[in-house]
Amino acid sequence: MDKPVNILIFEDNPSDAELMKRKMKKAGFDFTAKTAQDKNAFLGLIETYVPDIILADYSVPGFDGLAAMEEARKRFEDIPVIIVSGAIGEEFAIECLKAGATDYVLKDKLARLGPVIERALKEAEQLKEKRQAEQALRKSEREKSLLLDSIIEIIAYHDTNHILQWANNAYLKATGLSLSELKGKRCYHAWGLDKPCVNCPVTAAIETGKAASAELTPQNQPHWPPDQGSWIVRAAPVKDDDGNTIGAIEIAHDITEERRAQEAIRQSEERLRLLVEAVKDYAIYMLDTEGRVLSWNEGAQKIKQWRADEIIGRDFSVFYTDEDKTSDKPGKALEIAAKEGRFEEQGPRLRKDGSVFWADVTITAVRDDAGKLKGFAKVVRDITERKQAEEHLDEIRKELERSNGELEQFAYVASHDLREPLRGINGFMELLRQRSGSKLDEKDMEYIKYATDSAIRMDELITCLLRYSRVKTHGMPFSSIPVQLALGEAVKNLKINIAETEALITSDELPTVKADGMQLTQLFQNLIANAIKFHGDQKPEIHIGCQKLDSFWQFSVRDNGIGIEPQFKDRIFVIFQRLHTRDKYPGYGIGLSICKRIVERHGGRIWVESQSGKGSTFYFTTPI
Ligand code: ADP
Repeated sequence: MDKPVNILIFEDNPSDAELMKRKMKKAGFDFTAKTAQDKNAFLGLIETYVPDIILADYSVPGFDGLAAMEEARKRFEDIPVIIVSGAIGEEFAIECLKAGATDYVLKDKLARLGPVIERALKEAEQLKEKRQAEQALRKSEREKSLLLDSIIEIIAYHDTNHILQWANNAYLKATGLSLSELKGKRCYHAWGLDKPCVNCPVTAAIETGKAASAELTPQNQPHWPPDQGSWIVRAAPVKDDDGNTIGAIEIAHDITEERRAQEAIRQSEERLRLLVEAVKDYAIYMLDTEGRVLSWNEGAQKIKQWRADEIIGRDFSVFYTDEDKTSDKPGKALEIAAKEGRFEEQGPRLRKDGSVFWADVTITAVRDDAGKLKGFAKVVRDITERKQAEEHLDEIRKELERSNGELEQFAYVASHDLREPLRGINGFMELLRQRSGSKLDEKDMEYIKYATDSAIRMDELITCLLRYSRVKTHGMPFSSIPVQLALGEAVKNLKINIAETEALITSDELPTVKADGMQLTQLFQNLIANAIKFHGDQKPEIHIGCQKLDSFWQFSVRDNGIGIEPQFKDRIFVIFQRLHTRDKYPGYGIGLSICKRIVERHGGRIWVESQSGKGSTFYFTTPI
């Protein structure tokens, strides 16, 4: 022993205790010793002193050696205790050893004490080592099973008969079995199946002695129920020191969700593919990064005439005209799409037979999650018909503009020139009246008056026509006009009417607009004149309003007059259309048509909201 052995002696007789120490010394034993003579001293001592061994007198009254041993072992587990006693019978000795004493020594044979202590200490040391080794083993086992149980993969050990011997928590959870229920079962029984799996990797590992793996799914396992899920199973043989396979470890990973998600993606891709393939009015196809055709749909075949097997793999420049190819339009289109994500164009394209169609093309760059260019999606629409229709419409519009212009010119010239013969008619009628006045009877004079009146009326109508056509032919360029100014002019021009009817005119605050000032004045003048003319029993009250809307000003002229039946609200803007006779309300039905023409020349629109007897509000707009 390297260091002195600590000995606790429980002995009520001090001379016996001394004798023991002496004997031990004599035997050359290196030790320190503390002695307790009674129960209290013993209990007190084991609180403060850590002995390697206890020598206990068997016959201390009221607290014998075995009782002392029991107390000591509560504190120091496995401590060797040697019962020292006077005469001791065989039976008693056996009782002591049964009770857990390490050994016993008779007081008259104390010479044995040294070797007995030595042996007891050695055994205690061995016991301690064994305990520690067991503890370490238990700890490592605990750690191992904690580790295996914390793995989400299911792990099981099978013997060579494919009988389950052990499984981790994940395996137990998946099968719903406890370890004892599982032990001894065949793997497929544990899973509620009545047949082994097809291509079972565990069987393969046991049979071949080599690692094996397989993906087991309801699709490749005909006898599996569909809710069994999908698994990746790997198995490795376990071998003894001689290389014989003694079992197999199985590790399986549940891939049900992964497969389900993959299947969902596959199905949705399939649906999309079918949809794209079935689209007939659009050519929808993919190009690789170099511009080679990768896919082709029905619309593409319909528009471009190529079949999928003819065009897939070919460069998409085959759809471009020679001129576009020479200027590398296809290459530039891909370049722009790759750079900006998208390229859009309308232009000529070739069909397989070389005929040209007008295409509306969108090329979109397709990139993977990492942003790497994977190719291009191309959508092409044949807009030849639309293009032709647009061109046709454009021609019609130009033709209309031209004939309108001619008509304006004609109306202007005609009305101008028509006045000349009218003046002649009037002049000659007057001459007739003067020269033959006395010869003509009352009836003749009446006819002459009719002819003259008609000529005058015709002159007035022609004047109206002239005014109407002048809106376009004699319009002034637009400039910034404060609307309040134009309104003021109009009111000034109408001052006699206003005074006569005691009309009240009010207005909102009015903006400045881009307009022909004269025409804006004319517009307000016509609308206010009508509002006065068509007043009812009350004095005319007219309000000019203004509202700013999205991209235009909306003006309104509201009156409290006789109103207009809703069915006439369009007709009144047509030239010479009136709703009353001239005896009742004088006029030619020209005012509103001129208003309409002025508003339209300014890029706006005019309309009326009214009900008979409830006043009218005329609205017109001008762009901001
Ligand atoms: P005119 O005033 O010479 O008849 P307009 O073209 O100015 O010609 O008007 C056409 C018709 O619209 C009028 O005859 C009248 O019936 C109706 N009208 C125009 N303004 C008003 C109004 N403020 N209130 C009621 N009716 C109106």
